[in-house]
Amino acid sequence: MNTVIVVGAGIIGAACAAALASRGLHVTIIEPGCIGGGATAAGMGHLVVMDDNAAELALSSYSLELWRKLVASNPGGHEYSGCGTIWVATDEEEMAAARLKRDCLLAHGIACEMLDAATLETAEPALRKGLAGGLLVNGDALVYPPKSAQILLDQALANGATLIRGEVSALVPGGVQLTDGRTCIASETVIANGIGAAALLPELPLRYKKGHLLITERYPDLIRHQLVELGYIKSAHASDGDSVAFNLQPRPTGQILIGSSRQFDVRDKAVETAMLSKMLQHAKQFVPELGSLKALRSWTGFRAASPDGLPLIGPHPERAHVWLACGHEGLGITTSLATAELLADQLCGQSCAIAPAPYLPSRLNLSLKSAA
Ligand SMILES: Cc1cc2nc3c(=O)[nH]c(=O)nc-3n(C[C@H](O)[C@H](O)[C@H](O)COP(=O)(O)OP(=O)(O)OC[C@H]3O[C@@H](n4cnc5c(N)ncnc54)[C@H](O)[C@@H]3O)c2cc1C
Repeated sequence: MNTVIVVGAGIIGAACAAALASRGLHVTIIEPGCIGGGATAAGMGHLVVMDDNAAELALSSYSLELWRKLVASNPGGHEYSGCGTIWVATDEEEMAAARLKRDCLLAHGIACEMLDAATLETAEPALRKGLAGGLLVNGDALVYPPKSAQILLDQALANGATLIRGEVSALVPGGVQLTDGRTCIASETVIANGIGAAALLPELPLRYKKGHLLITERYPDLIRHQLVELGYIKSAHASDGDSVAFNLQPRPTGQILIGSSRQFDVRDKAVETAMLSKMLQHAKQFVPELGSLKALRSWTGFRAASPDGLPLIGPHPERAHVWLACGHEGLGITTSLATAELLADQLCGQSCAIAPAPYLPSRLNLSLKSAA
């Protein structure tokens, strides 16, 4: 029987472990901390179809199909809500961008509809008046990511996987070494430890991208959909510096989750008041009432950003029997299940439901010599 080590039990490692164990492989998953406690616990849990490019659209829409199947038997366990996303347009230029997005999504069979200013106002009365409209993507949803990670890990354990509590310090021939001196041996090793992958494999071109979030007390029905500004793509993704974008989520508890910020190469986990305040000021321009809500808690997390914004899924081009499932940046909750299927299909020599080529690590320069 093939034996596989999965390093890390965030949403990606847990999903990979579940997919590999369901194929009959003997899986050992290694995690020093909480299950789903890394970037997974810091994330918003928005399951969102993103269409910056064809590969992102293929991966996110395939993953959303898998999420619908996963949550169907236990929506409460995942704190699942099929709230949909409204991409909010502030002006006519953004309405034009919304129409382009609609055309692209519809061409790929993803249900969505344009909202004019009046319909947007009825759908989301808390938004400020005078917005141009938006695009409603009905199939988007949200989960509570650490719970989903635990459910996926439990699936893996039910299929015979083993959880080892420990931290991997190095890859050794045929397996991994732990910081406590133990060695774990297997025929294949999957690197799924988020931004920690860059420390284990210095050749990986992953950058820290810090994000802040803030959650309020309960204000049920203040908003009904995940709300994201259409300027999100230009403000959150295109820049190399610090940025904030309006991103608001109605938690099933009635709380409001407010995001989000992005800072490249910042490794200090502390909440930065200036960044939080910038994020809130920006969000208040869309929902003025936010200013009078009571905040409960704020926190930060580290996204693992790859040079081209796509995750690394597949065999390491230079290290035999080492597989990568990392670099998911701000979309790892959404794309976890598709990542796990693509990884497991490749590792088992099976055909994949979507073309794996755009996500193969071999597209990047992962030369061991240049890393050394
Ligand atoms: C503020 C913010 C908001 C976000 N919002 C969303 C969203 O709404 N939707 C979405 O799809 N994505 C979102 N994301 C992105 C998403 O959270 C990440 O892409 C995803 O959680 C990455 O999962 P992961 O399993 O790769 O990493 P992690 O969750 O970080 O898990 C890695 C695990 O590996 C373990 N580990 C690390 N090093 C080692 C080692 N040496 N040995 C063993 N174990 C190790 C860690 O303890 C950790 O548990 C957001 C991220 C942030 C920061």
